[in-house]
Amino acid sequence: MASVQSDSLTHGRAAVHDTQSPTASAELRSSRRRRTGHLKDVPASRELREKIRDCCRQLVTRLDRNRGFSKDELEAVARKALEYLELPEGYLGWAMVVLSSEFWREQVAAVPAERRLLLLPHCLKHAEGCPADYDQFGLECEKCGACSIADFRQQAEELGYKVLVAEGSPIVLKIIISGYVDAVVGVACLNVLEKSIDNVLLAGIPCMAVPLLSSDCRNTSVDEDWVRDMIHVEKQVSAEYAPTYLHLLRFAKQLFEPAELNRLVPQLRNKPKHAGSGAEFEMSGSSPENEDRLALHTDPIAVTETLAQEFLAKGGKYARPFITLAAYDAMVGAKGATSEGAERLAEVPDSVRRVALSIETFHKASLVHDDIEDDDDFRYGEPTLHRTYGLPTAVNVGDYMIGLGYRLVSRDASELGYEVANDILDRLADAHLRLSEGQGAELLWRDANNKQITPLDALKIYALKTAPAFEAALLCGIRCAGPVVDREVPLKKFAKHLGIAFQILNDLKDWQGDQDNKLSAGLDTLGGRPTVLWALALESLSEQNREELCRLLDSPVDAAAKIARVRQIYHNAGVFEKAHLLVDKYQERAERIADEIEPESLRRLLYYLVDSVLERPATVEMEIFNPTFPT
Ligand code: SF4
Repeated sequence: MASVQSDSLTHGRAAVHDTQSPTASAELRSSRRRRTGHLKDVPASRELREKIRDCCRQLVTRLDRNRGFSKDELEAVARKALEYLELPEGYLGWAMVVLSSEFWREQVAAVPAERRLLLLPHCLKHAEGCPADYDQFGLECEKCGACSIADFRQQAEELGYKVLVAEGSPIVLKIIISGYVDAVVGVACLNVLEKSIDNVLLAGIPCMAVPLLSSDCRNTSVDEDWVRDMIHVEKQVSAEYAPTYLHLLRFAKQLFEPAELNRLVPQLRNKPKHAGSGAEFEMSGSSPENEDRLALHTDPIAVTETLAQEFLAKGGKYARPFITLAAYDAMVGAKGATSEGAERLAEVPDSVRRVALSIETFHKASLVHDDIEDDDDFRYGEPTLHRTYGLPTAVNVGDYMIGLGYRLVSRDASELGYEVANDILDRLADAHLRLSEGQGAELLWRDANNKQITPLDALKIYALKTAPAFEAALLCGIRCAGPVVDREVPLKKFAKHLGIAFQILNDLKDWQGDQDNKLSAGLDTLGGRPTVLWALALESLSEQNREELCRLLDSPVDAAAKIARVRQIYHNAGVFEKAHLLVDKYQERAERIADEIEPESLRRLLYYLVDSVLERPATVEMEIFNPTFPT
């Protein structure tokens, strides 16, 4: 094909990189919230697919690959490519994936093959005759040769790749953050890749992908030589390195690994003894296994510390400590986002690490108390602490963690600087108080006979319950690096909008059952929480339906029937659509504030938070359009 001549092709990238232009930036960031089904056409001919790829290849040579590539920037450049080729908008998704792969090609090549992951979709298998079974890591291909999976797998494994035949980006992110691999090459349909772009690309993780030629989920196909080319991308040293949050994500997780956690938070009372050396004691509500475990202590006073430390290390995404560390890093030169990120983060003072730990400690304490107040059965896919050890013990462990959270900062006052430590403690206390006020309002509503609430009041509760944690995580990280000064007001507003949008999204997820946490759908409604969905329903329903909805809460019908009826009523009232519009509104407000924040490294973090915290799983989108979506 003719070489790409026109400067107009790079103009899109230049425009989106014009970070001095809030208007341009704002326009681009708002472009992402829409239905995208019509943008995922697969170019039918091989010739057309190659034409788009060649154009993207030429285009990336003009881009500065030392800068990150946001989804909006990616889209802007892909649109320019399609305009140049005079192709319809329907190929946008395809062009974005190809462009992104070409953008990351050099950085993937800079990663040794044994540090790369090949991710293949199981829908590539020969559906009728595949003899393979699934294990916890996905499809265990038996290499029967009936589909291309065996061939791809063999070629990749010979080079040293780790190979996974599984679906979805969350597992990839988990594997990457765990430190097993540093780059991903994959095959997936455009629907899955759209979500992966949110999860993987925005975190700055080197990745390449080849889209499937259909999204049928069965007996799919792919341009096989493209996949082989991607697998065999030759090792080379990359001169360019786009900013990445990979090292910071790993760093946040590593704080909670046993050795680091014990180093930063030495257990003062926990003195394990060998089983059978006596001094067992009993606890009300504890199970036989737990009694065994608790009996490993000679000193009953040590048990609370142990339970708190165990819960602190458990599950979760460590999003809050990541925010603290990333905000700190953004204010001290953003070295953690560079290719030397891992080494540079090793220099982060322990006092800053403990501030990040304290943020998670408060969060975990609130989860323990929340689970009790909501009488939830599961947390992180396991029985909640109060289900396991009994209510009084769980209350006490939560209290202990609050004390621990404050001590993690107060004991480091001389390292942090007394003024800094005081400011951080004040922020933590303020966040703690507001969160308790929000939770108190929610509990009072839940236990009241009158179930009327306006959307505005529900949102006020959300602002108190969710925003303070984001705010404290962000501002404490910045304060560790220096004075917060004139960023205080905008960042508080940013956290408020982000927190509200996050909570509404959480309410929507509750209708699909949250696999990470509560396991069943509609628990918020069954638990009588004053959600904005409920408030929106009350606002829109007829008197008759409103009464039915309120009666349903206390009705003796079984939970499944109750949930099904509430779901139907919500659909009839357009509640899910309205809630999504509210998420859009608060997301947009957060983005407008982010547009104005300096320095650029902090602004980039805010954009990343918006995109990752407010990620909308496909199933949540489906909920809007499909009232019978399974629970
Ligand atoms: S090659 Fe592997 S994945 Fe493909 S059909 Fe055979 S066993 Fe199944």
